[in-house]
Amino acid sequence: MTQQPVWAGQHITVAGLGVSGISAARALAGLGADITVVDGGDSPVLRERAEKLRAEHISVRLGDGATLPPGTTLVVTSPGWKPTSPLFAAAAAAGVQVVGDVEIAWRLRGTGAPQGQDGGPAPWLAVTGTNGKTTTVRMLASILAAAGLRTTAVGNIGTPIIDVILSGEPYDVLAVELSSYQLHWAPSLRAHSAAVLNLAPDHLDWHGSMEAYAADKGRIYTGNQVACVYNDADKATEDLVREADVEEGCRAIGFTLSAPAPSQLGVVDGVLVDRAFVPDRQSQAQELAEVSDVQPPAPHNIANALAAAALARAYGVPATAVRDGLRAFRPDAHRMQHVADVSGVAYIDDSKATNTHAADASLAAYGSIVWIAGGLAKGATFDELVARAASRLRGVVLIGADRALIREALARHAPEVPVVDLDRTDTGAMAAVVREAARLATPGDTVLLAPACASMDMFTNYNVRGDAFAEAVRGLTAEGA
Ligand code: ADP
Repeated sequence: MTQQPVWAGQHITVAGLGVSGISAARALAGLGADITVVDGGDSPVLRERAEKLRAEHISVRLGDGATLPPGTTLVVTSPGWKPTSPLFAAAAAAGVQVVGDVEIAWRLRGTGAPQGQDGGPAPWLAVTGTNGKTTTVRMLASILAAAGLRTTAVGNIGTPIIDVILSGEPYDVLAVELSSYQLHWAPSLRAHSAAVLNLAPDHLDWHGSMEAYAADKGRIYTGNQVACVYNDADKATEDLVREADVEEGCRAIGFTLSAPAPSQLGVVDGVLVDRAFVPDRQSQAQELAEVSDVQPPAPHNIANALAAAALARAYGVPATAVRDGLRAFRPDAHRMQHVADVSGVAYIDDSKATNTHAADASLAAYGSIVWIAGGLAKGATFDELVARAASRLRGVVLIGADRALIREALARHAPEVPVVDLDRTDTGAMAAVVREAARLATPGDTVLLAPACASMDMFTNYNVRGDAFAEAVRGLTAEGA
């Protein structure tokens, strides 16, 4: 059993009155710590939340997110807060440590019901990467469940990780999704095994540089016990493994869409095979599943399935459970979701493609595409993405604040492709977008919402954007288009 820190008597400042901050505040107050939640905002919504917490004897300070409350012994941050936030500078000056919700969850392991197959805390199988985290973690949880293990997918998904740890549920093992933000603030996390799926520029405004972003992702490998899983097609992930400080005997395991080398998982003749967790990896390979067992069987998603399989196999799961788990898995909404076929044209909602790396994977999965793109570019450039997709584009409909960046890339790399530039950023614009896309499409084409941009200029989030798309497509059906 890991030694538990003493929470009673600690004066903890929680930065941010959002979902993760509220969960941390309640959990730590429940363990006897003295909590102050601080938030720079002061809206009616925040005041209502503050009132609820105050009723639970948790102090809340609104309208000042920068000053460190006197006597603070630990700061717990929330994902939206940049490392450069003045509160953290104040903490550093006072010699006070700053950690995130994942670090707290890690330190709380063993506090709830007995977990793990040996009665100790449940080990973590952890996943990060620029894209594919949620999908891979859900696939992994499905595989572990198919093996009869008590597990759940946690992290950046759904229930805050602290709540899962304290829930009292007796889990054997956890499938944990970790963002680069969470890894940045989780110094003592030590996973059983971990995977970095891919590394492409994203969130650089938060991390400051690609090097800093990669370094934070790479922390997921620190102290791994059994396997560090990397993407053979993305050398940067392998470099992170090489640089990692791991437990003695921990192995580097690659995944590839080609035939696997020893210590890799890969694909041979439409079959997912394991050449890592077999008695003799020089001469043996274990069949795991068919490519057609993966939903949807797009190349990037096969890669996700291989990463999930690698982590499950590192944990000792049998091959049949990999197959059964992948068969049982269904993708989450807004991830290459087939909405409808209208007049021989397929409409696909990949609203979750909020960066160019994700949109690239999405565009690579279809042959003849009317592409809906645009939104907030977050500092991205689009030349490479457009050049790679150009030959498969039948038309493009552009929306959102930064659409000019994509239009200019199209003019450079796909000048013959018809482009409709919708100068509307209102939420109702999606119906017009879909009508334009339908006009550009011919039977056999795919209309693909894969915006390569964040949604917040027009929508609350990518879910709302995807829902608006689906509703507009249903509108087409009603019109009998
Ligand atoms: P995350 O949790 O990392 O955001 P998701 O599984 O929610 O990842 O998928 C996000 C987006 O990335 C989706 O639009 C999907 O099409 C795309 N995607 C999923 N897996 C990959 C991958 N391995 N490589 C590139 N893009 C991917």
